[in-house]
Amino acid sequence: MSECIFCKIVAGEIPSKKIYEDSEFFAFLDIFPAGRGHTLVIPKAHHEDIHSLPEELYGSLAKVAKRVADLLQDKLHSEGTTIFQMNRESGWQTVFHIHMHVIPRWSGDALHKPWDIKPADEAELASLHQLLSE
Ligand code: AMP
Ligand code: ZN
Repeated sequence: MSECIFCKIVAGEIPSKKIYEDSEFFAFLDIFPAGRGHTLVIPKAHHEDIHSLPEELYGSLAKVAKRVADLLQDKLHSEGTTIFQMNRESGWQTVFHIHMHVIPRWSGDALHKPWDIKPADEAELASLHQLLSE
């Protein structure tokens, strides 16, 4: 038996507020929401993170997240949408069953960008570019 809480949600062993389901994916309201309508979209199959997930499945997950984003916008009349997808402990992941956070947004809401805005070092950018494009 899996100890994964999201697998348990898919199996109906832990209750959830489902807002979307198809044969491969499941979406439900986050119980510690970053804002009104904060929804998690997950594959029903257990995969830990972006690096272990097959490429096609990540594409399908993103497609369902878009569908859910549209649904939330239609029903909540949100003004914008922010999507987060955390991977591994260093990437802020706390539940190790891959998921996309779909967060409806309104101007002046309580969510803040999680990084400081400061200009890049030009030499560092150039060396990174060199490394990543060779
Ligand atoms: P992350 O930190 O990206 O791994 O996201 C995990 C998310 O799962 C957090 O936003 C939690 O609030 C949410 N969460 C944890 N347990 C539950 C649950 N039983 N039902 C709904 N959301 C949950
Ligand atoms: Zn799982």
